[in-house]
Amino acid sequence: MAAFGTVFMPQMALAKYEDQQWSDSEIVSSDSISLHPGAHVLHYSSTCFEGLKAFRHQDGSVHIFRMDANIKRMVQSAKLLSLPAFEPTLLEQMIKDIVAKFAAEVPEAPGSMYIRPTFIGTEPAIGKAAAATNSAMLYVLLSPVGDYFAGGSKTLRLLLEENGMRCAPHMGMVKSGGNYASALGPITQARTEVDADQVLFCPNGDVQETGAANFILIDGDELITKALDSSFLHGVTRDSILTLARDLGLTVSERQLSVDELLERAAKPGCEAALSGTAAVLTPVGTLIHQGKEHTVGNGEAGATTLKLRQALNDIQWGNSADPHGWLSKV
Ligand code: PMP
Repeated sequence: MAAFGTVFMPQMALAKYEDQQWSDSEIVSSDSISLHPGAHVLHYSSTCFEGLKAFRHQDGSVHIFRMDANIKRMVQSAKLLSLPAFEPTLLEQMIKDIVAKFAAEVPEAPGSMYIRPTFIGTEPAIGKAAAATNSAMLYVLLSPVGDYFAGGSKTLRLLLEENGMRCAPHMGMVKSGGNYASALGPITQARTEVDADQVLFCPNGDVQETGAANFILIDGDELITKALDSSFLHGVTRDSILTLARDLGLTVSERQLSVDELLERAAKPGCEAALSGTAAVLTPVGTLIHQGKEHTVGNGEAGATTLKLRQALNDIQWGNSADPHGWLSKV
C-alpha cells in the first residue's frame, strides 16, 4: 500500500482570485499548476490548507465528515494569514463537486478519501514582504487512503519537548505550511535520537499538541485536554472525540495540563493517552520520553476507553451507527 497521501485523483477543483474577485470553480487536471517563481506563497508563505475525509457506507453512498467545521477553520486560517477572503459556500461547492466526480473511487471501510483544500498567494511580487497577495488560488485535491491501523494498534512513543515550540504561539491555531516546516527539526531529531514517533510540544511545561495531532489524556472517567487558545490547532477530531466522550458519560476537562501532572497521572495503571486527528483518528500513546527517562502510560497498551471512543467515531463515519450530531454530508 502506498504511503498516506502519495496517490492523487487525476483532477481537482480550482478557483482563482484575481482583480478583487473570485472566478467560478472548475475541475482541472491535478498533475501540475503553473506559478511564477516570484509568487507570494513561495517567498512569504501565504498559504493554508485543510484535511478532511469522505467515507463510503455499506449501501455505497458517500459522506463527507464535518465539512462545515473544516471550512470554518480554513476561512479563519486565511484571515489570520491575510489571504483573500472567500465565501464558505465556494469551498463547500468545490469539495462537493470534486468528491462527487470521484465518488466511485472512495475506498470502502476501513479506507477513505482524504480531501485536501489548499489556498496559496500567487501574486508575482517579491517586494511584498510586508503586504498581502493580490491574487490567489484555491484548490481541492483528493487522495484515497487505506487503514492507518493496518499494522495493528501499536502504541506511540512521544518525546516531551519543553524548550522548543511547534510554531509562533499566536499562530498555532492556523493550519499553515510554515508551522509544519518549523516543527520538522525537533521531530526529525526525536525520531533519530530516541526512536520517538512524534514530539509532544510542552513549552514551559504546558502540554500542547504534537506535530500533526492533538493530545488527550484519559484518567478513569475524566478526559483531560488543553483548553482552546491561539497556541495550537483546534482539531475537528478533538472536538468530535470530546463530544462522544460526553455522550459516553465521561467528564471532559478542557484546561491547562502540566508535564508534572501528566507524568504523575500517566504512572497510574488505568491511565490512557491518545492522539486525535483526521489521519490518526485516535491513536493510543504507550510511552512518554522526558529528560532521557521513559514513562509508560498506564500499562503501555491501547486503553479500553480510547478504543471505545475511536470505534464510536468510526461507526458514525462509516454509517454503522446513527449520526446524532449531524456530522455527515451526503454527496
Ligand atoms: N494538530 C495539528 C498540528 C495537526 O496537523 C492536526 C491534523 N490536522 C491536528 C492537530 C488534528 O486536527 P484534525 O482533528 O482537525 O485533523
